[in-house]
Amino acid sequence: MGLLTIGAFARASRLSPKALRRYDELGLLRPAHVDPHNGYRRYAPEQVEHARLVAWLRRLGMPLARIKVVCALPPARAADEVAAYWREVEADTEARRELAEFLVHHLSGKDEPMAPTQLTLRYAATTDRGLVRDQNQDAAWADHGLLAVADGFGAAADTADTAIRALATRTSGSPGALLDALRAAAQDAADAVRQAVNEDEAGTTLTALAWSDSELALVHVGDSRAYLLRDGELLQLTHDDTLVQHLIDEGKLTAEEAESHPQRAILVRALHGAATEPPDVRTHQARPGDRYLLCSDGLHGVLSPTAIRDALTTHREPDTAVRGLVELVHSAGAPDNVACVVADVL
Ligand code: MG
Repeated sequence: MGLLTIGAFARASRLSPKALRRYDELGLLRPAHVDPHNGYRRYAPEQVEHARLVAWLRRLGMPLARIKVVCALPPARAADEVAAYWREVEADTEARRELAEFLVHHLSGKDEPMAPTQLTLRYAATTDRGLVRDQNQDAAWADHGLLAVADGFGAAADTADTAIRALATRTSGSPGALLDALRAAAQDAADAVRQAVNEDEAGTTLTALAWSDSELALVHVGDSRAYLLRDGELLQLTHDDTLVQHLIDEGKLTAEEAESHPQRAILVRALHGAATEPPDVRTHQARPGDRYLLCSDGLHGVLSPTAIRDALTTHREPDTAVRGLVELVHSAGAPDNVACVVADVL
């Protein structure tokens, strides 16, 4: 079959001539031939599939530069690339959703003194050496303004404690702009660890929830985790700063493969002697009835999300939930130290 006019190709690909001219201008779909005298574009019949792929990717919102990359790949690798793109979109949407919720809450005046939504919390915290390690480098903290876990590593024994104490010093008694106070506190924690250890072989993870009246915010770096049990569903609020999570995000590893990956403990971010960046800080919208779990990898590394959810659902009180979770970790061999905090919003 010969070349098609732009009108015939538009009908075959179910795209408008205007869209085809635009794709040509953008370099996404060049016509097979352009008449040098009158500029008429002509297309080969086998370009129809390419044209449809471009249209679908445009509908997906994929940036033009990335569409060019996807169109140049063989189908299986193009599929991986689309999946990786969509994971990024979802992560970005999730982050923006939380910001939007915060702004709605803030602008609607719900955090004004006239209509306070005071958060009251009930909490319990513990750490446990486990059954294999000969010392405990994890730390846990719970008080009226802060919940935190940290998982220290390297030769320095108490980096986890150092980080949490620095965070707690700054967050206690700082009403009002929680987020600002927490950013400063997160920087203090990073500075305290950097001063305490002068090498990047020693350091700590840090995952914390801080609240002030109705506001709640999350501090995170490393692979300890914060979970939320809401309406019977367990949601992981933090993103592991690990090499394997990085590979999963890039579509180079599946979550199942990651579970048994030999390098799953390698952190890409943590507080250590050479770390210059403070932990991430972001707001979180809490609701009465929420139950939060903060834990180190000594817990989430051996218990499945289902086992964690079931334990959190079964135990009514935070202290029995904490004890129940540590018992489960022991039943699974407790190969690592454990830090665990459970808190209920009343
Ligand atoms: Mg650990």
